[in-house]
Amino acid sequence: MELNKYRKSKQRQKILGLLKSTTKHPTASWIYEKLKPEFPSLSLGNVYRNLKILVELGCVQELKFGSTFDRYDGNVNPHYHLICENCGQIKDIEMRQETALDRKVEELTDFRVRNHRLEFFGLCEACVPSNGNGKAWHEPVFSAEEYE
Ligand SMILES: [Zn+2]
Ligand SMILES: [Zn+2]
Repeated sequence: MELNKYRKSKQRQKILGLLKSTTKHPTASWIYEKLKPEFPSLSLGNVYRNLKILVELGCVQELKFGSTFDRYDGNVNPHYHLICENCGQIKDIEMRQETALDRKVEELTDFRVRNHRLEFFGLCEACVPSNGNGKAWHEPVFSAEEYE
């Protein structure tokens, strides 16, 4: 990582700290609202610029959903996501990435796969109707330790 390429920035350090401390996968404007009281001169443009640098440095993962819907993740280990179509909540899945999938795609195509992203869409536990037809939410099968 070429950390020297960019001048050390207190705001950027704060943004990184914020992202490392939450599992919310926040948007840039969420981060902006959180830091505004501490950094009154902060602009949303600053936040976007710093996020871009953090992504470039590999400190933060960007989940592209289109402009203002982009979400940021302090967890840079490869992992899959659950996305609630009702409330927009994004959660990590404690499950290893299926690297075998990369090889399978390479076998089927001439493409050299570097990585893949996988998102599962549906309803989070808070949004599943309680009078649903017995489809109860269940805890992830894999433990957090194994995931490390
Ligand atoms: Zn939900
Ligand atoms: Zn994540």
